[in-house]
Amino acid sequence: MRKIAAGNWKMNGTKASLEEIRALIGAHPAPGCEMLICPPATLIAAAAEAANGSALTIGGQDCHAAASGAHTGDISAAMLADAGASYVILGHSERRADHGETDAQIAARALAARAAGLTAVICLGETEAERDAGRTLDVIGAQLAGSLPEGADAANTVVAYEPVWAIGTGRTPGLEQIAEVHDFLRARLIERFGAGAREMRLLYGGSVKASNAGEIFAVANVDGALVGGASLKAADFGAIVAAL
Ligand code: PGA
Repeated sequence: MRKIAAGNWKMNGTKASLEEIRALIGAHPAPGCEMLICPPATLIAAAAEAANGSALTIGGQDCHAAASGAHTGDISAAMLADAGASYVILGHSERRADHGETDAQIAARALAARAAGLTAVICLGETEAERDAGRTLDVIGAQLAGSLPEGADAANTVVAYEPVWAIGTGRTPGLEQIAEVHDFLRARLIERFGAGAREMRLLYGGSVKASNAGEIFAVANVDGALVGGASLKAADFGAIVAAL
């Protein structure tokens, strides 16, 4: 299995930020893992052009479930692919919170992504209140059941476990807490999709940085990371790539 270091730039970056893409490519011509950056939609085409012929792949941060039509401000999966993306993040907790995205909507978008030839990076994670109430695995299990469409496999789907309380906070779960959720995800995926789901990449996300990447990557069933803040600078993200 080829592990993934995925960067989520969120709503950050202008054309000047392409310099970070170029620096990343220059520093990591042959990384030991898949290297993915998901810039804002305005930069996807230029980032894909900068990454052309390199080991860096480019992704979007969301897509609409419809192929085209009257959806002002939205972007279809085919448009992302046309701009040079090969992945799309779906169901990030910020989108679930800011835009009220539901599991069913996320599953529909994942099907649209698949139809356009994109790999979906489907995000799930519990809030702090849910963890404190001992509901983490219930919440994760329900999100997994609802957000992954039928036919998900290791080629068309990546799952990212991102505890909401760990995103952008500098706090991370204990390694045994990460292991518990990732083992649970693996078991549920195999139960639903069969033995092929052993190869589905399970990323951890939430305050990953160079200093904690190594120990997190050593946890069983952690097949990479989805990185926010530490993906914005080539040097920071490069250190995470090197740890994988
Ligand atoms: P963070 O964000 O690395 O800044 O915590 C992770 C994410 O939201 O994907």
